[in-house]
Amino acid sequence: DPLKSSVNLNELNASQREAVTSTEGPLLVIAGAGSGKTRTLVYRVAYLLEQGIDPERILLLTFTRKASQEMLWRAGQLLNETCRRVVGGTFHGIANMLLRRHGHHLGFGSSFTIIDRADAEGIVNLLKGSLGLTGRDKQFPTKRVLINILSGSVNKSIPIDDLVYESYSHLSEHVDDILNLEKYYKEFKFNNGLMDYDDLLVNWKRLLDEIPEARQEMAARYSHIMVDEYQDTNLIQADIVRLLAHGHENVMVVGDDSQSIYSFRGADFYNIMRFPKVFKETKIIKLEENYRSTQPILSLTNDIMTNAVEKYAKTLFTRIEGKFKPRLFAGRDEREEAAFVSKKIAELRGQGIALNNIAVLFRSGFHSYKLEMELNSTSVDFEKRGGMKLTESAHMKDVIAFLRLRVNPFDTLSWNRILLHLDKVGPKTARKIADTIATSGSPGQALSEYPCGKNWRHGVESLAQLFMEMERETTPGVLYELVWAYYQPLFEKIYRDDFPKRQKDLDQLKSIVAGYADVQTFVDDTTLDPPETGKGLSKEDKERMILSTIHSSKGLEWDVVFVMGLADGRFPHSAAEVGEQWEEERRLLYVAATRARKYLYLTYPRELMTPDRQFRRVGMSPFLAELRAGLFERIDSDGVERNAPSFLTSTSTASSAITFTKKAKKTKLSVKDLSKGVRVHHPFFGEGVVNNKPQGRSVDVIFQRHGVKT
Ligand code: ATP
Ligand code: MG
Repeated sequence: DPLKSSVNLNELNASQREAVTSTEGPLLVIAGAGSGKTRTLVYRVAYLLEQGIDPERILLLTFTRKASQEMLWRAGQLLNETCRRVVGGTFHGIANMLLRRHGHHLGFGSSFTIIDRADAEGIVNLLKGSLGLTGRDKQFPTKRVLINILSGSVNKSIPIDDLVYESYSHLSEHVDDILNLEKYYKEFKFNNGLMDYDDLLVNWKRLLDEIPEARQEMAARYSHIMVDEYQDTNLIQADIVRLLAHGHENVMVVGDDSQSIYSFRGADFYNIMRFPKVFKETKIIKLEENYRSTQPILSLTNDIMTNAVEKYAKTLFTRIEGKFKPRLFAGRDEREEAAFVSKKIAELRGQGIALNNIAVLFRSGFHSYKLEMELNSTSVDFEKRGGMKLTESAHMKDVIAFLRLRVNPFDTLSWNRILLHLDKVGPKTARKIADTIATSGSPGQALSEYPCGKNWRHGVESLAQLFMEMERETTPGVLYELVWAYYQPLFEKIYRDDFPKRQKDLDQLKSIVAGYADVQTFVDDTTLDPPETGKGLSKEDKERMILSTIHSSKGLEWDVVFVMGLADGRFPHSAAEVGEQWEEERRLLYVAATRARKYLYLTYPRELMTPDRQFRRVGMSPFLAELRAGLFERIDSDGVERNAPSFLTSTSTASSAITFTKKAKKTKLSVKDLSKGVRVHHPFFGEGVVNNKPQGRSVDVIFQRHGVKT
């Protein structure tokens, strides 16, 4: 098969081909949605390998880990499996990997723990208390606002005091306390071996900037760097790219300024405009043909951006004709809006459209609650993205805390979680115990020797027992069993009312843990790439519809897309100020609408509940109201469509830009049936291919969306 041995460049247009074959020097691809930016990156990876570049020397940076896994999988289909050895991931994921290796230059051990936002807020709260900032002054900002300030300062590269004066002027009087708090926050993290998300980037940049030895090693390590979704990088990330490419400048970034939707988190789409200034020799390639959407959809999405304040110099055309104009439906209220979407989905299915060709998008996670309720009374299976993370709830954090301590016993945050569950142990005692453990070599030993009071000795002893057993064990699945044996009675006591429901999450966690070969990687993933809730185990292999926040739909595509909640006051968000925030909301709508291949439905409720629980009549989003006439057709309030399209012509089955249609046959396999190349299916990780001969009872599997698991 010639496709297996050589990358077929005829599957690209001339500009895409140029981007793929320009392998040396800085390259910027700037182009609108659906023009094949991601596809071009995939082909370029395969092409570079075919040219003899070592896969370990190619670095592919993407916005989510799943995206890079899928891209490398796809590249593997174009060429061969060497593609899977390419280093791919998010900035945070790669930072994590490199810091474990080089972090000692900055004083970090290799077993630091990554903390999520809730952990960060927990620490800030603790410090607020010990610095006496809570009782004294009720006006002192909440932990949420404090983390917004600290994190905002890092991501926007603005000093804390400037940020407070500029964007939080009502907190100006607290600047000194906030600065002081930040000092202690940093110290706490350092002493406990903790890094938050921002630290990963900051410390990676510091390694490149301040440690010549580390810089040299990293620059020599990667000969080709590629970045997707460059419009959503922040200044630190742009600096990292600059420093990494130092010496060879073989760096390609692709992006679309009109799809920048993360500036609220410090992303700066001017990074795209600055790129040619940073890299003087930059070749700029524009892609203008859209391969995703029909002409009527493209006409509407182009028009959304016509009204943008900032004019983006891009024109897109498509050769996909299509007669179906985008439809607009206004429900009496949210319930009716949801009922319409649900009914329409049933109709589409009746016409032969598979559920995985349909997606419903919305601005915020809670906007789909009514629809979820509707769908639960139908046979429609769905997966929700961008909602709660599986690891966010208290019982999950409890269990993970034990495993975190197995790799980093200095993490007093986790000790606190565990110790406070013991009878008669309060914050003060917990702190003392944690401090003792931190200076000992073995937590189990330290716990067993701790001078306890009579009425709480028993609790500490059984915990000591658990940690002694855990210290002798390294297999994540076994560690989980040990933790569970200890935690189960506690769990059933703490969550007396609803533990059976919570148990389901833990069952899922158990099956996830079992897929890991080492605890550190599992623990990292729970914060870097946490699985989402609402992804029921038994459902994975069924055809499912996607419900997603717009932010989580980036880069993907479906035949049919519904965008809900397009009411004035909801889209743009009622708090969005005219100016930058308003424009970001416009781009958000652009991202949503450009996900559709064939059919686009826009819906909104005519009535919204205000925060004070009043009902208010609202019109359609101003972004729709200002579109040129004739770009969409209204559906009457009875929900009946005149000139309804026939969907039976639909042939595509892919549910994302890079999905595979081949499906593994589902038969139960035993270990002896497994050998390299056998396709398998895992209830959580989905489709995969066996990568080696089983070693005893363990085998490596490469999963399409999750990478290698043992
Ligand atoms: P987004 O900005 O939304 O991330 P993108 O620019 O990354 O979009 P892709 O997802 O790479 O676009 O491509 C959109 C669709 O068009 C995909 O289904 C892709 O396979 C298809 N496509 C792109 N280029 C070509 C081409 N030259 N020939 C055929 N199909 C193409
Ligand atoms: Mg893309």
